[in-house]
Amino acid sequence: MDLLQPISSSSSRLYKMYAKRLANLVIIKFEDFLYHFPFRYDNFSIISKIANVQEGEVVTVKGKVVEIKNEYTKRAKRIQKAKVKDETGIIDVIWFNQPFLLKSIHVSDTIFLSGKVEKNVNKLIFQSPEFEIELNENYKNIHTGRLVPIYPVTHGISSKWFRRQTYKILSESINNVTDFLPEKIIKENNFMDLKKSLWQIHFPDNLDYEQKARARLSFDELFLMQLSAKKRRMEWEKSALGSPLEVEKYKNKIDSFIKSLPFELTNAQKRALAEIITDIKSNEPMNRLLEGDVGSGKTIVAAIAIYLAFLNGYQSVLMAPTEILAMQHYATIRKLLCPFKVKVKLITSSTKSEKKNQGSKIKDQKSDFDILIGTHAVLYQKLEQNKLGLVVIDEQQRFGVEQRALIRKKSKNPHFLTMTATPIPRTVALSMYGDLDLSYIDEMPIGRKKVKTWLVPKVKRNGAYKWIEKEIIKNKSQAFIICPFIEESESMVTVKAATVEFERLKKNEFPKLKLGILHGKLKSKEKEKVLTDFKEKKFDILVATPVVEVGIDISNATIILIEASDRFGLSQLHQLRGRVGRGDKQSYCLLFSESKSEKTLERLRAMEKISFGAELAELDLKLRGPGQLFGTLQHGIPKLKIASFSDFPLIKKAKSEADKIYPKLKEFPDLEQKINEINTKQITPD
Ligand code: ADP
Ligand code: MG
Repeated sequence: MDLLQPISSSSSRLYKMYAKRLANLVIIKFEDFLYHFPFRYDNFSIISKIANVQEGEVVTVKGKVVEIKNEYTKRAKRIQKAKVKDETGIIDVIWFNQPFLLKSIHVSDTIFLSGKVEKNVNKLIFQSPEFEIELNENYKNIHTGRLVPIYPVTHGISSKWFRRQTYKILSESINNVTDFLPEKIIKENNFMDLKKSLWQIHFPDNLDYEQKARARLSFDELFLMQLSAKKRRMEWEKSALGSPLEVEKYKNKIDSFIKSLPFELTNAQKRALAEIITDIKSNEPMNRLLEGDVGSGKTIVAAIAIYLAFLNGYQSVLMAPTEILAMQHYATIRKLLCPFKVKVKLITSSTKSEKKNQGSKIKDQKSDFDILIGTHAVLYQKLEQNKLGLVVIDEQQRFGVEQRALIRKKSKNPHFLTMTATPIPRTVALSMYGDLDLSYIDEMPIGRKKVKTWLVPKVKRNGAYKWIEKEIIKNKSQAFIICPFIEESESMVTVKAATVEFERLKKNEFPKLKLGILHGKLKSKEKEKVLTDFKEKKFDILVATPVVEVGIDISNATIILIEASDRFGLSQLHQLRGRVGRGDKQSYCLLFSESKSEKTLERLRAMEKISFGAELAELDLKLRGPGQLFGTLQHGIPKLKIASFSDFPLIKKAKSEADKIYPKLKEFPDLEQKINEINTKQITPD
């Protein structure tokens, strides 16, 4: 089997059918099965004779099925009853509501049963145990009688299914796996070899082997991450002869621009700006990540850098992950910089196709701007090589390495400023983005109030609507109502549901107020109009899909209601909540959830207490059981498959090995190929 073959192009109907579901778990090619690791194991390795099993014990027995049948109980529920016998005794087994079991378990089959032994009246019994039929003499157990892997799953795929597939792929194809790690590193660190590690992480012979496999695979993950980042950085520096910008000469102009702002920069903003200025003055192009919590004021810092580039006669590009955010930046930057004679232009995928009809005109227009703002459509825009001085990427966690590389290729070597609200711990940032320098805005503008957050119980839904209406009328403020993603991304189904909800709210809940709707499927002109109208207070409530998640800045909005809030991770909720509380009025966030799970509600209640993004992100990582996936909205913190960002010694070791091997990378073609694959792959889809 070709491990690099995409699952969707497999000739097997089974895999074709599962391809989409697997893609939700980022399993795209067959090799990805091997790297979809179990997050725990059921320890079914104690094997016992039936006569020796004891109540409460977790064991495996092996015996012959002497009876299996369906039975109806009074409540018309079906239970499946079996008796299994070995040379020492007989034990009862029951399952609930799985009539199809009779298709796979037959009298006189040799069966393994694994699970906890319970007492029913006076008899010992297995209730819903794992089972496995011994199909032939050489049969190897995978579901019972051993350490059994439990996998992160998604809707429509079970752990058992994964176990079967992974076993099959390992058996058939492990020999096609090449160990890309240099022999020397393996020896010096006493690592398990790759083939064995992959076997042992899925089907460990014992916990000791599992640990060794985990150590090796964790190292690989961090090492590849660091080495690929290192290679990006080195290539960047080698090719780079930056465009140093004059700063002193324009100091007065910059000062008067800053003075023209309706507020004073925070100290943190000033510090970040100083770091940026140091970078762009130098010969080496800047490559800096600006981190700051939602609403901390990153845009203005970028705007100042853009203005500086303009004063030096350079063009800038500002790229945002969504059209809505690009439009907003367009409005903001125009307002800020037009008075200073800066020409601002907007390009999104829709404005681009509108232009297409005008044929060659685009070429003549290529220099009609000082700053080009847009979605990744800007990547496909012709730019004048020597004029591009600065590239700003907002919400950079939403773009992939590939897109960043593409824009670099488009121009000689502009300065790069990437921005994110994702609170990435420093260690994480260093291993993930070893190719970036970091600035933090760790302070909010003065006067900001904590957004009051409540998890609203179902019975108070109507009360909440009434309260929102009253607040809006009393304070002349505005509100967002966020509808859930029904499907994984913003599909038609999601948009339809939002539209239905919009009509319902208009008619039943807020007949006195004016409502607008915003979703990703609107035409770009329509989106623009909705946003401008909302900003100009032409309506009171904006009903939206979570497309408003990133960046949207409406300072008069003070209430955000989030439907189905349990579908989001805490960091995403924090991003959404960041849509309000951007002015000095008290703001509110109402979380709705139909969930009955106490665990889920507890997680959501964390939003009531915690208002720092970093703290929420950490909690999120802790609470999110593996296997829980929160839609396709980016969580921001890079997902590690097996290593841990808190494992500092391993991060350090991986970094030092990566630094050592980098100059000799050419000598290790397998490793080099692996690194090149990573560096051309998009990390985050958008
Ligand atoms: P983010 O960091 O989330 O991108 P923005 O740059 O959109 O935040 O800024 C949020 C809001 O705060 C904007 O309305 C902006 O004008 C305002 N703002 C930025 N800096 C300051 C400041 N120093 N004092 C007061 N308001 C500020
Ligand atoms: Mg922003």
